[in-house]
Amino acid sequence: MRKSERSKELLKRSRRSLAGGVSSSVRAAKRPLPLFFEGGQGSKICDVDGNEYVDYVLGQGPLILGHSPSCILKAVQQALEKGQLYAAQHEMEIALSEKLQQLIPCAELVRYSNSGSEIVQAALRVARAYTGREKVIKFEGHYHGWFDNVLISVHPPLESAGPLEAPNAVPGTAGQANSALCDVIVLPWNNLEVFEEAVINSKHDIAAVIMEPIMCNTGCILPREGYLPAVQEICNRNGIVLIFDEIITGFRLSLSGAQGYFGITPDLATFGKAMAGGFPISCLTGKQELMELIAEGKVNHSGTFNSNVMVMAAALATLSQLESDGVYERLCELGTRLMQGLRELAEEVGIGFHIEGPGPMFHLAFTDGGSFHDYRTFAEHNDMDRYHRFVEVLLDEGVRVIGRGMWYLSTAHTDEDVEFTLGAAKLALQGMDR
Ligand code: PMP
Repeated sequence: MRKSERSKELLKRSRRSLAGGVSSSVRAAKRPLPLFFEGGQGSKICDVDGNEYVDYVLGQGPLILGHSPSCILKAVQQALEKGQLYAAQHEMEIALSEKLQQLIPCAELVRYSNSGSEIVQAALRVARAYTGREKVIKFEGHYHGWFDNVLISVHPPLESAGPLEAPNAVPGTAGQANSALCDVIVLPWNNLEVFEEAVINSKHDIAAVIMEPIMCNTGCILPREGYLPAVQEICNRNGIVLIFDEIITGFRLSLSGAQGYFGITPDLATFGKAMAGGFPISCLTGKQELMELIAEGKVNHSGTFNSNVMVMAAALATLSQLESDGVYERLCELGTRLMQGLRELAEEVGIGFHIEGPGPMFHLAFTDGGSFHDYRTFAEHNDMDRYHRFVEVLLDEGVRVIGRGMWYLSTAHTDEDVEFTLGAAKLALQGMDR
């Protein structure tokens, strides 16, 4: 049996000083119990009880080069010898924004922040300033950070979600300002008719449409054929700013993000997570005429820690590694093999199963046989209880995955890791009731 005494002790102690014993609400899961870790190397992470796991959590996505990659750590150490924060300009900022201009189709100009949540706010502010309009369309099941104006209908209980064609704006937390809900129009994603209708009804009020171009915070659901270009065309026709939230897809799906992958260039896009391989960065990229509002000082975007030495060095080192030949092909190939292996195992034992994603990340769910294309169908058919049991057995067998079903791969994962993981999954699946 896997030991967890030390983690349990530390959690008990932690709860006496740290609210809930964790530093982010998403880490406060009851199943599996939050573990304490003391180090990671490559594809592996070690907890305080001496258990080692093949890690598919990867810091919730950022660790695209795995744990403790020497190329990033060395670059950061070297840069920090000359200082950590100037609250002023330095050349690494330029090197990075020039690199982003080359890589990301919409990146005519760039600004940096520290987290995804805050940079989404900058994107919305630019869109409102540019259009002189207030309302924002966001989609059920999409997550854009924990702030009041976007923590809306992320995973709403179906009984309060309202009609599919006109969902309620369901607040995500106690203490959320009611006023923040008024400016948001919530719609089902991947549904063009409902989208077009909503735009027709309120077109002169809508500043922006914000979406995850692949819905990674509810399953890992791909846009339907033709959906993204049609949304873009409707936005263009009605003077609405299209924002892709690429916090997950950016530098994970490809060097040019989902926008390069799908060939759709939004007006604005946010990046974070994988961009600096585990260091806290985010950025807003966008078309010149929108970003000019920040450049001219009409739109305020500030931050004490923006573009600090550590994160700039980390991002430059990460991107230079990601630019090497074959990185994304390898990530895709490894992810696809793992997905295929899991699919075959589930078929062997006859358990309803849905696995979807482009490879560098994917989502696995136990289902009643139904398929997913939006939040409602996902919530209806997904057996979370069964998945939680699966996660616990995987942990016992030395594989760590995210409790909601998402799996991330890194360049540090090996063929042996995949084989080991499939062995653990086989045991876990065989032990399940049908
Ligand atoms: N947007 C998306 C698509 C995300 O997945 C996340 C985080 N999971 C965020 C925004 C918020 O980023 P952060 O946690 O860095 O604030």
